[in-house]
Amino acid sequence: MDTKIEKIALFGKTLTELKEIVESLNFPGFTAKQIALWLYKKNINSIDEMTNLSLSAREILNKNYFIGTIKPIDKKTSQDGTLKYLFATDNGKFIETAYIPEENRNTLCVSSQVGCKMACVFCMTGKQGFQNHLSAGEIVNQLKSIDESEQVSNIVFMGMGEPLDNLENVLKALEILTSNWGFEMSPKRITVSTIGILDALKKFLQKSECNLAVSLHNPFDDERQKIMPIQKAQPIERILQEIKEWDFSRNRRVSFEYIMFKDFNDTKKHVNELAKILNGIKCKINLIRFHPVPTIDISGSADEAILEFQSQLRDKGIFTTIRASRGLDIDAACGLLSTKALLEKG
Ligand code: SF4
Repeated sequence: MDTKIEKIALFGKTLTELKEIVESLNFPGFTAKQIALWLYKKNINSIDEMTNLSLSAREILNKNYFIGTIKPIDKKTSQDGTLKYLFATDNGKFIETAYIPEENRNTLCVSSQVGCKMACVFCMTGKQGFQNHLSAGEIVNQLKSIDESEQVSNIVFMGMGEPLDNLENVLKALEILTSNWGFEMSPKRITVSTIGILDALKKFLQKSECNLAVSLHNPFDDERQKIMPIQKAQPIERILQEIKEWDFSRNRRVSFEYIMFKDFNDTKKHVNELAKILNGIKCKINLIRFHPVPTIDISGSADEAILEFQSQLRDKGIFTTIRASRGLDIDAACGLLSTKALLEKG
């Protein structure tokens, strides 16, 4: 009988997981670190290239494992230099990764899920519904397999999906990104963005030193519920309460993302309420322009309204920035490119 062996990807394994593998194969313990260094610090395409492993060790590994990095299937370049990569997943879906070069930093915006179940009304990824979680390997691959891998200075988990809904894989990815046997990035250069899931948030804050960004978008319970269904089960007040119990002043930052919607969340009343609910949290608010996307019937605030909102928040003593719009000519809004690819596939 011909039994086909399904090989397992090594890329995306933490050092602990690699130790379990080498132990199961009766290799010396130090082999785990050697494999990790090949996977995350060098550019190899096959196990045969791990030349400090014995020939027999490589043969044994080859029987059940493979490297498992995946090249993107499409790359779009914006006039402003922003790049958007499209990766295909095992189940015939697509995920997006954006590379945003700036003067002082080059930020990579990675996805953590295929689709998303949180159904925020302004989001194209939400419209796709939840398909599946990305593995740690699929998350880190978005850094490893792009042409600009070596130039990336910062990573934000603000692509497709809700990272805290896929906490286990996101934590593994963060371990690989920050460990000395991995990509050795400072946790201060990585930001995980969430709409706020309390239990997962607590675990994230305990287990990771990376920065936190919370998608706030409206300080009022009834209004936030209209655009973010999560507000019903996980009110932002409880999330803020948890954040107040952590010291963000030294090791990491907390910021709040605020997409500006015309006549919905851009009034003086919203400034006052934001100042009230964020009182006691040392943070930054990041105002984001909303650009129209197909099938979503909401308008973004005008630039003057955004500037006025920023000035009013600053008057309240809240550090507030306006995020520059990037890559508008290449479907940079999260979920647009993958939705197009799905539609074209039929
Ligand atoms: S905004 Fe984030 S959490 Fe909400 S549906 Fe989109 S991907 Fe999911």
